[in-house]
Amino acid sequence: MNGKVYLVGAGPGDAGLITVKGLECIKKADVVVYDRLANPRLLQSMRSGAEKVYVGKLPDRHTMKQEEINQLLVDLALEGKTVTRLKGGDPTVFGRVGEEAELLRENGIRYEIIPGITSAISVPAYAGIPVTHRDMASSFSIITGHESPDKLDRMIQWDKLANATGTLIFLMGVAKIGYISQQLIANGRQETTPVALVRWGTRAEQETLTGTLADIEDKVKAANFQAPAVIVVGDVVLQREKLMWAEYMPLFGKRILVTRARSQVSELANRIEELGGESYEFPVIETVKPSDPIEILNIEKSFSKLDTYDWIFFTSVNGVEFFFQHLQEHGLDIRSLHRAKIVAVGPATAKALKVRSIIPEQLPERFQAEGIVEMFGDRLEAGQKVLLPRGDKGRLWLPEKLTEMGLDVTNTVTYHTVITGEDDDELLRMFNDSGIHAITFTSSSTVTNFLAIMKRMGIQDPIKHLEGVETFCIGEITAKTAEDAGLTVGRIAEEATIDSLIQSLCAWNALGDRPSEL
Ligand code: SAH
Repeated sequence: MNGKVYLVGAGPGDAGLITVKGLECIKKADVVVYDRLANPRLLQSMRSGAEKVYVGKLPDRHTMKQEEINQLLVDLALEGKTVTRLKGGDPTVFGRVGEEAELLRENGIRYEIIPGITSAISVPAYAGIPVTHRDMASSFSIITGHESPDKLDRMIQWDKLANATGTLIFLMGVAKIGYISQQLIANGRQETTPVALVRWGTRAEQETLTGTLADIEDKVKAANFQAPAVIVVGDVVLQREKLMWAEYMPLFGKRILVTRARSQVSELANRIEELGGESYEFPVIETVKPSDPIEILNIEKSFSKLDTYDWIFFTSVNGVEFFFQHLQEHGLDIRSLHRAKIVAVGPATAKALKVRSIIPEQLPERFQAEGIVEMFGDRLEAGQKVLLPRGDKGRLWLPEKLTEMGLDVTNTVTYHTVITGEDDDELLRMFNDSGIHAITFTSSSTVTNFLAIMKRMGIQDPIKHLEGVETFCIGEITAKTAEDAGLTVGRIAEEATIDSLIQSLCAWNALGDRPSEL
């Protein structure tokens, strides 16, 4: 049976500005066809194994012609696939969705059109410009600026437009800004009419230029202001001075790469978005249960005598997660832990315990293995039994130190961290376009694996590739791994926590020439 095609509006860029239905179409697709106006972050919702087809511009290739795209959609659907065609903004606003749908219909292929938030309205909104206003504009028009001047003249009744009471919104008009403003003035709009151009609105690259019909062309030239931009003509532009908001967000203007474990939903990425930054998540670590028979035996041994330990130290969230997995798999009762004092290295680990109704001892002051010894040193006595459930790549400092202090340490590897399997062309494209402004590392393995994956993706010298990208590390140890690998570490979070990392990101962004918070 033929497949089905969803013609989906991806919104203007901010990945949060897609509809719920649109996102569902990405999740269920066998193939997603997209171009540069759709945020690559949306593709991360695709199911694994689904195919991506990029039809936008590449250095060695022109944008695929519309006819070719139409045919591609037909061909994919004829193969029985569920196809999601992502289009910037709304598919019916200068999106040529009509042509795509028509060919699908001719070929007997089912389709749905899923509307999106058009850039025409949302991009001005992100610049603090409402397209209508009680006192200033009771209507708006959305106009293409794409055509050649004579075609524009044929399609646009300049005299009517120029004298309309509402806001004029031009898409695809940056190159024609001179012609557009001349025509509007010639047909009766005042030279002093305010104009704004908003480039890459709702994205990290958002930039706004304002002027009047009389001077905007010169300003665009002087600033070398490039497409894509939405042009807004009308008094509503003046509202920006009062209403501008996006620029005040603490992480405005920054696209931040978040390296993380595949299994962990990134709290860091969500926080970045909440603070007005754009995050791009890149899983570099996978955590798996040990498969080596000796390690499995070790786990069995140390879990069979849980009621004999005086202390259990958890040094990571994964440590907690896997501990409980093993506990369940071995059919053990949580009460077998009744004797042990339980310690978490930091707040995130403590939280992972608390959701399982285990309240750990007081947190160490430094969220590192060293902090544990500092905090509990005087209560740790020779002969006490300690269980240390940990990952295979974890540091050995703590077990060694405790053994040296005369404690009876059971050091059990409960999980392995391995490098992830997937390459990401979108990420490479963003690096090439200088689209990544900062990168965060939350453990030493994220550093090592990230650099290894870059090499695997064909980047010969990942360190050089990261020049100009600010590097953030969650703590001294991660920073040391990064520096040993040759990276220049810009900032280290004061405390080894997500909060602290967020604070250093905000402090860094506050240094630029951004307007400060109101
Ligand atoms: N269907 C789209 C418009 C496609 S035409 C929509 O509804 O938004 C492409 C034009 O849209 C660009 O030339 C530019 O004028 C505008 N555009 C799309 N996304 C934009 C963005 N994030 N910032 C500024 N302009 C954008």
